[in-house]
Amino acid sequence: MIAVVTGADRPDEHPELVDALRAAGWTTQAWTPAEAEQDRGFPVGAQIVVFGAPPGTSPLLESQAFQEATVLYAYVDGARGTVGPMTAAGSAPCPTCLTDAIDVATPDPLLARWVAAGVVLEIETLHRRRAGTLFATSLSWSLQDDPGVSSARHHRRAHCRVPGCAEG
Ligand SMILES: [Zn+2]
Repeated sequence: MIAVVTGADRPDEHPELVDALRAAGWTTQAWTPAEAEQDRGFPVGAQIVVFGAPPGTSPLLESQAFQEATVLYAYVDGARGTVGPMTAAGSAPCPTCLTDAIDVATPDPLLARWVAAGVVLEIETLHRRRAGTLFATSLSWSLQDDPGVSSARHHRRAHCRVPGCAEG
């Protein structure tokens, strides 16, 4: 099961991600951040928890998910879409180390589709190879400023004491 915690207030507001996962054959359940806060068991039984917002947007939910499952971030900030980083205990830095909370602008729908496709491909890769490509790494596609694709590597904070936090 794939758990999706949407970045928006309504789970149906940006349906590309959930639609793409279901079309690829993954059982997918979506929560808004508010719903996930009400349902403390939301990550239990999930292979992957996808957050539709930058790391650090919902710190308590993200640390809870990190203890239970593999966590993948995927979101669109205006004219820039990002897939990753991904993290799991022992494999990459914890959500607190990855924190990059930004106020995201209205998503470009083209980028929402690219992000959704990227999430599906990463989950499929993880499933087939038992190894992901986006641990501690993110890919972004920008349609403004310097348009195109870029990647970023994310590091552990020195002296982080969160159990399972690791350099990717
Ligand atoms: Zn950490």
